[in-house]
Amino acid sequence: MSKIVCPYCGYDFRLDPREAVVTCPSCGTSFTRSGEVIEEHLMGRVNYSIQDILEVFKEWALRKPETPDDLPLFFRLKDYKLVFYPFWVYSGNIVVNYTGHVKDIKGRYGTKLIEISGKEEESVETAIPASSYLHTGILDDFVFNVRGKVYFSNSYVRKYGGRILNSEITKDEAEKRAWSKVLNKIRERLSLRDISNIMFTNISGKLEGPLYVHEPFYIIRYLYRGREFTFIADASDSRIIHAYIPVGKVFRMLALAAGLATLGMALGLGLIGLILDLEIFAISSFLAFGILGLFILSKGIRGVIRTGESKPISEKEAYEFLSKVAF
Ligand SMILES: [Zn+2]
Repeated sequence: MSKIVCPYCGYDFRLDPREAVVTCPSCGTSFTRSGEVIEEHLMGRVNYSIQDILEVFKEWALRKPETPDDLPLFFRLKDYKLVFYPFWVYSGNIVVNYTGHVKDIKGRYGTKLIEISGKEEESVETAIPASSYLHTGILDDFVFNVRGKVYFSNSYVRKYGGRILNSEITKDEAEKRAWSKVLNKIRERLSLRDISNIMFTNISGKLEGPLYVHEPFYIIRYLYRGREFTFIADASDSRIIHAYIPVGKVFRMLALAAGLATLGMALGLGLIGLILDLEIFAISSFLAFGILGLFILSKGIRGVIRTGESKPISEKEAYEFLSKVAF
C-alpha cells in the first residue's frame, strides 16, 4: 500500500498497488497515479432497492424450467453488497477494409477458394470492465447504455452504502482493449459469412472517449432450504447479470435418469464395438457418451445451474471471483 494525495482537495489516502485510477474518498475526484484528473466521470443511479431486486430475481428465476416452485417460499436473503464497478466506455464509427477467402460453391471442380475484398462499417459503443473484483469474463459482454447516466457523486455512493471499486487498467490499456474488442467483433461477423483468412488492410475512424463510468451492482448471497447461492444484478436497470439458482427435485430426477441412461448407452456401444472388433468405434463412443453421461449426471447431483446475461465462465473462475468478494 502506498499513499497518494488528491490533486483537487489535498486529501491523502492509501491505494492498492494494482489500482491505476483512484477516486478520492473525500471529494469524489477521480485521477490517475500521475495526478491526471479524469474529467468525464459518470455513474449509474441506484433505481432499484434491494427489496425490488429480490422480487425481480424471484420472478425471473421462476420463469426458468429448472427452478423449484417453492423458491419464493424458502428464499432467504443472507447478505448483500452494493458495489460501483468501473468501466471505460468508448463509442464511434469504425470502417475497415479487408481481404479474405470464400468457398466458390458454383465452381465446377469442387470447392475452390476465391479471394475477395470488402469494406465493413461498425458503429460501436463498447464498455471495458476495469476491476478484477468481479471476474471480467462476466462483464466482457455487458451491454452498456450511457443514456440515463449522471455525473459521479461520492455522497450518492455513500447514501446507498455502496463501495467504489477503482480501475486497475490505465486509459491507454483500456483503449487498446476497446480496439481489439471492436476488431474482433467485426472479424467474428465476417467469419459468420464464411469468410476465412481475414486480413484488415485499412482501419479508419475514431473511438471517442473514454467515459469513466461506475455502474452499481448488487452482489447477493441467498439461502434456499439452507443451501447458499449467489447472484449479481444491475442496480440501475435490474438486469440479472449472473446467477446460481437451485434445481428443483423433478428436474434433478430427470437429469439423474438421463445421465444414467447415457452412461448405459456408453457401455452398450463400447461392448458392441468390441464384439464386432471395431476398436476405435468402441473406444470413441464409450468416451463420448461416457463423458456426456457424467456431465448430465453431475447436473442432477449438484442441483444448481448458472445462468444470467453474462457469457458463461468456468466453475473455477466463478469460484475464484466469488471467493474474493468479502461479505
Ligand atoms: Zn479529493
